Amino acid sequence: MLSHAAGPTDTPLIEETIGATFARTAAAHPDREALVEVATGRRWTWAELDAAVDDLARALIAIGIAPGDRVGIWAPNCAEWTVTQFATAKVGAVLVTINPAYRTHEFVYAVNLSGLRLLVSAESFKTSDYRAMITDAHRDCPALERVVYLETDWFALLDEGRSLPPNAVSERMADLSPDDPINIQYTSGTTGFPKGATLSHRNIINNGFFVTETIKFTYEDRLCIPVPFYHCFGMVMANLGCITHGSTMVIPAPSFDPGITLQTVQDEKCTAVYGVPTMFIAMLNHPDFASFDLSSLRTGIMAGAPCPVEVMKRCVSDMHMAEVAIAYGMTETSPVSTQTHVDDDLDRRTTTIGRVAPHLDIKIVDPVTGETLPREVPGEFCTRGYSVMQGYWNDPVKTAEAIDTEGWMHTGDLAVMREDGYCTIVGRIKDMVIRGGENVYPREIEEFLYTHPSIEDVQVIGVPDEKYGEELCAWVRLRPGAEPLDAAEIRAFATGKLAHYKIPRYVKIVEEFPMTVTGKVRKAEMREVSSAELGLG
Ligand code: AMP
Repeated sequence: MLSHAAGPTDTPLIEETIGATFARTAAAHPDREALVEVATGRRWTWAELDAAVDDLARALIAIGIAPGDRVGIWAPNCAEWTVTQFATAKVGAVLVTINPAYRTHEFVYAVNLSGLRLLVSAESFKTSDYRAMITDAHRDCPALERVVYLETDWFALLDEGRSLPPNAVSERMADLSPDDPINIQYTSGTTGFPKGATLSHRNIINNGFFVTETIKFTYEDRLCIPVPFYHCFGMVMANLGCITHGSTMVIPAPSFDPGITLQTVQDEKCTAVYGVPTMFIAMLNHPDFASFDLSSLRTGIMAGAPCPVEVMKRCVSDMHMAEVAIAYGMTETSPVSTQTHVDDDLDRRTTTIGRVAPHLDIKIVDPVTGETLPREVPGEFCTRGYSVMQGYWNDPVKTAEAIDTEGWMHTGDLAVMREDGYCTIVGRIKDMVIRGGENVYPREIEEFLYTHPSIEDVQVIGVPDEKYGEELCAWVRLRPGAEPLDAAEIRAFATGKLAHYKIPRYVKIVEEFPMTVTGKVRKAEMREVSSAELGLG
C-alpha cells in the first residue's frame, strides 16, 4: 500500500468568515464565559467579548482601515490580543502577528514585508522595550502610519469609533468572503529569514474547528492557553478552536510560566491545556507539581516539536489528561495535518502524530524523485487541501518552492506512514544525518536515549567527520541530581540495543538547548557549537 491517505469528509467544512462564526457563537452562548485573563483577573462573557470586539472593529473602520489592509500586533499574550484578532477579522483587515521576541532588525523586516499600516503594540514586556524599538525603527517603516500602544492609546482608539452606528460592523462583514486573506503569520523556522504565510478565513477557521472537534470540545470546555498567540498554536488551535465551539479561553500569563499554568488549571478548573513538549516537561518537573489539583483536566494537545513518549504518558497518568492528543502541522498548513484521536489506544496516542485530519490529503514522498513511497518507508511529508496557505506574502518564488503545481505543500519533515495510516515524524530533511552512507534519523536515537534513567532530555545532531562524512553527537540534559554521564557510558547503554552506526560518538552535557520561542530546538546552532568545540571543519 502507498503512503497516501485522505481524511474523513462527513462533517462539512465551515464556509463563513471568522467574524460570522464569532457572532454565531456569541449569540448562542451570550452569558457563558468566553475569556479570562488571569494576570489582571478580567473576565468576559461571550456577549461582553462580542461588544468589546465590535468597539474595536468600529474604531478600525472609523480610522480608515479597509478590507485587505494589514494591521500588526506585537505583544505577549493578553486579552487585547484576542480582541484585536477578532476585530480585525470582522473588518477584513489582515492581522500580521509579530513574534514578541523580535528585535528591531526582524521587526523592520516583518513590518515592511507585509506593508503594515497600523500596529497595535505593548509598551514593554520583560526585557523587550517595544516603544523604544518602534521609536528607533519607525523611520525605516515608510508605510506604517500609526502605532497604538495597549497601555496608553487603547481607549482613545476605541473612542474614535463611537461616532459610527453599531451596524457599521455588520455592514462591513457582509462585504467579506471566507477566501479573503485574513492573517499573515511569520513562520518561525529555525533558520533563514521569516516568510509570511498568508492564510484565509477558510484556512484557519476550519483548522481551529477540526482540531478541537477531534478532542471533543463543547461550550463546557475551558482551555488554558500558555502557548503564544502570535503563533498558530495560540491564535488558531486555541482561539479559533474555542470560538468554533463556544469554549472558554483562559490566558494564564503573558508568557509561559510552568507554575502559573498549573495554578491556572487548578483555579480556573480548566478541562484542557495546550503546550509544546518543553512546556509539558517544565510543568511535570515543577518542584510543587504534586501539590496542584489537576483533576479538572480531561484533554489537551501537545504539538510543535517531537513529543517524547514518556512525557505523553505522564500527561495521561500524572496530569489527568486521559484524552490528550498529539497534533502535527506547520504554519503554512493552518497548521494541523494529522492528529491522534481521544479513543486511540495509548500506543497510537503516545508514539505517533495521529492520522490524516478531516478534508485533507497527505502523502509521504521520496525527497529526490517525488514518487509516493510504500507504507513504512520514510520520506517527505506533504499535505493538500483546504488548509494549505494562499502563499508566502509577496514571494511567488518561495511559494512555488513550497507548494507544487498540484497543490501539495512540501513540509521538509521526514515521516513514516504506518500500515494503519498513523504517522511518525523521524526528523527534518536537513537534520537527517548520513553516516558512512547510512541514513540516520536523530529522532529514533533520541527516543532510545530518553529511556536512560539519568537523561531528562536529549537532542542528536550530525557533526562533520573525515572518515564517515558525519558522526553523531548527543546533547544531553540530565535529571536533577543524576550522576554525570560520559560518552563511554552512553555508548555502553546503547550497545547491543542500537545498530553500531546509530550510537553517538560524542556526548555533550548541557543545562539547556538553544530553542526558538515555539519550542523548536535550533539544531543548526547546536551543529555549529559542537563542530567548533570538537575542532571539526
Ligand atoms: P511551525 O510552522 O512553527 O508551527 O513549525 C512547524 C514544524 O514544527 C513542522 O514542520 C515540524 O518540523 C514541527 N512539528 C510540529 N508538530 C510536530 C509534532 N507533533 N512532532 C514533530 N514535529 C512537529
